[in-house]
Amino acid sequence: MSLSIEHVTKKFGDFTALNNVSLEIQDGEFLAILGPSGCGKTTLLRIVGGFETPTEGSVKRGGGILSSPKENVPVEKRNIGMVFQSFALWPHMTVREHVQFPLNSRRCTMSKKEKQEAADQAITTVGLAGLEKRYPGELSGGQKQRVALARAIVAKPSILLMDEPLSALDAELKINMRQEIQNIHKLTGATIIYVTHDQSEALAMADRILIMKEGKIEQLGTPREVYCSPQTEFAATFVSKCNLVRGKWNGNEFHVRDQDVVFSAEPAAEEFLLKGICPIRPEEFEIFREKGGICGNIVNRQYNGREIHYTVQSGDDFYKVYTGQERLYCEGETIYLRKKVS
Ligand code: ATP
Repeated sequence: MSLSIEHVTKKFGDFTALNNVSLEIQDGEFLAILGPSGCGKTTLLRIVGGFETPTEGSVKRGGGILSSPKENVPVEKRNIGMVFQSFALWPHMTVREHVQFPLNSRRCTMSKKEKQEAADQAITTVGLAGLEKRYPGELSGGQKQRVALARAIVAKPSILLMDEPLSALDAELKINMRQEIQNIHKLTGATIIYVTHDQSEALAMADRILIMKEGKIEQLGTPREVYCSPQTEFAATFVSKCNLVRGKWNGNEFHVRDQDVVFSAEPAAEEFLLKGICPIRPEEFEIFREKGGICGNIVNRQYNGREIHYTVQSGDDFYKVYTGQERLYCEGETIYLRKKVS
């Protein structure tokens, strides 16, 4: 059963947190909602979860209304699981007690044995077997987040809502937990709606990414689509960290402003054509000492292991360039930037 978000607007007083948002989320899909702080990600998630009602528009599941200004199916009847940024664990409850907690409601018709089996299964799924009797104070950050995940999936929800679930974890653990969340997605088959402001998280895990800005949808597409073909200036800089080269489009050619340089490039999205912008990702540029291309000076060099990151100044413009280690350029050197032929 797909989930339809239809023309959802949410106002808090005079402030519009969501502005006419519409999209369809397929059953079993992993959708990441990506955007900067305050763009309305959590508000959209809370409306899907039933914690907020829309000011206008509706959320439907299989044709039936879940949320609208007049109707709101209660949270406990929506068959959803939630995982928050803070682990939301109680210090006096063990791992097993936490995981079994959602099954303790009067609405749950499982026998005691079935509840124990469901909790065991959830605990095993998240890799916590053996730690059932531990209290939160005896767990690492990653293990605490696993408890929160197990608690969210124990009642076999058809929709899992995750609000920045990895942001409290350190960098290495974050990467490991991404894989865990992907596994949980595969094992449970649940629809996952995952809020994040981290573009690498969204690109790594999601089937589709919804990019939001100031309460509106900027772009919706697969990771490859939003990364390789951003449709707006915001999507280009926020997701792909693109350089926005200024100039003029002429069919499949782009003439760089103030330089005698022409790039051949795919016909750009309308916004880029109108504004005279060619978005070029840092890894799409190549640096040469030989003349030809955008002339500039290296003003910064950073070693990043596999890549070297350069900042190049050309007049008033600054470009980011990521290269391999084959050739090293020095700060202060005059170089030429060319776009790789795709
Ligand atoms: P973050 O990444 O910082 O969590 P977000 O994209 O999830 O941000 P929301 O929490 O959805 O943003 O908030 C969107 C806007 O709505 C913000 O400007 C926020 O201050 C405002 N907002 C959210 N909830 C309320 C509320 N209950 N009352 C008034 N304003 C609110």
